[in-house]
Amino acid sequence: MSFLSQTLARVKPSPTIAITTRARELAAEGRDIISLSAGEPDFDTPAHIRQAAKAAIDAGHTRYTAVDGIAELKRAICDKFARENGLDYTPAQVTVGTGGKQILYNALMATLNPGDEVIIPAPYWVSYPDMVLLAGGTPVVVEGAMQNGYRITPEQLEAAITPRTKWLILNSPSNPTGAGYGVEHMRALAQVLMRHPQVWVLADDIYEHLVFDDFRFVTPAQVEPGLKSRTLTMNGVSKAYAMTGWRIGYGAGPQELIRAMAKLQSQSTSNPCSISQYAALAALQGPQDYIAESRAVFQRRRDLVVAGLNACPGIDCPVPQGAFYVYPSIAALIGKTSAGGTAIADDEAFATALLNEAGVAVVFGAAFGLSPHFRISYATSDAVLADACARIKTFCEGLR
Ligand code: PLP
Repeated sequence: MSFLSQTLARVKPSPTIAITTRARELAAEGRDIISLSAGEPDFDTPAHIRQAAKAAIDAGHTRYTAVDGIAELKRAICDKFARENGLDYTPAQVTVGTGGKQILYNALMATLNPGDEVIIPAPYWVSYPDMVLLAGGTPVVVEGAMQNGYRITPEQLEAAITPRTKWLILNSPSNPTGAGYGVEHMRALAQVLMRHPQVWVLADDIYEHLVFDDFRFVTPAQVEPGLKSRTLTMNGVSKAYAMTGWRIGYGAGPQELIRAMAKLQSQSTSNPCSISQYAALAALQGPQDYIAESRAVFQRRRDLVVAGLNACPGIDCPVPQGAFYVYPSIAALIGKTSAGGTAIADDEAFATALLNEAGVAVVFGAAFGLSPHFRISYATSDAVLADACARIKTFCEGLR
């Protein structure tokens, strides 16, 4: 009998670790490696937010706080939901955690019983299925095909719902595809959900502010107010304000759920970092210029990467609506052999050969539940992206 828990045995090790480890090994050997695998903005946290954190330290905000967030921050979050999403929440309906990740984890841990099903559109953020498994639930993966813009259709959603369905996790814009559900797509899914009152919605809105062209971000409870009483609207400051390391995320939903999540947090981590909470307060209440500035930079990079990848023979890269990822198809390359002699049997082999032979680290599609694809994070400089695209092109041209 293993010393480790049976629950942990249900969870697979991160499929991205192998490629990250290999990238590190090659860099340590002195190879010139470009890593396009990190899921975080490459900018510094805006100055006024850093300043607020320093002031919080000097003001003595260095002690335990209320378990799931200080009152001022909860009020600022309510204001944010009202201002940006047209959603009316009270502070008692808001919970603050150590990143959006803890909010998702708390929600699943607080609600799932063995046999409960959670619908997860693929390709998905790698943590969703494993969090569901850790909480004792059953992930039900529904494939959002590339030809449907990586979105699931209302028919697919309807077919996936059973009496045991407890949650639908909806992430728009998405990690890893950047695909977004506009108002019409969201309304179509909401209509299905309105027919199934047992299904709750976990809206992961973490990339809300990273949207491009004329795409307008919407969240489920806003599009269909009838869903609000069974929706947890999750968001955070990590991606919107370049604050990944500060670890502040939040969620809003029915008070009974929020209380249960706080109870769990009280017996696990207690409050999220007090200093980070004051920084998040400054982020939500202060000038919002950073959002528009970073959006313009990311849109330019997106255009650079999409054009660069579509110039590579055998790569088909759709144009994403948001986030900072692209998720091209390499269906036309499967079965070929690289210049270095690697058989490209699947997207993992592609990513491995690309790393070994071209020095570019990307994450293969199988990690996100939809193959044959790969994910590039373009949260890095234009020059690095141009170099990466040139290397990928040479690699693809060498395939036979
Ligand atoms: N949801 C998605 C889709 C993400 O990509 C991430 C981070 O990569 C998170 C949630 C969690 O973000 P954080 O815990 O930094 O708020």
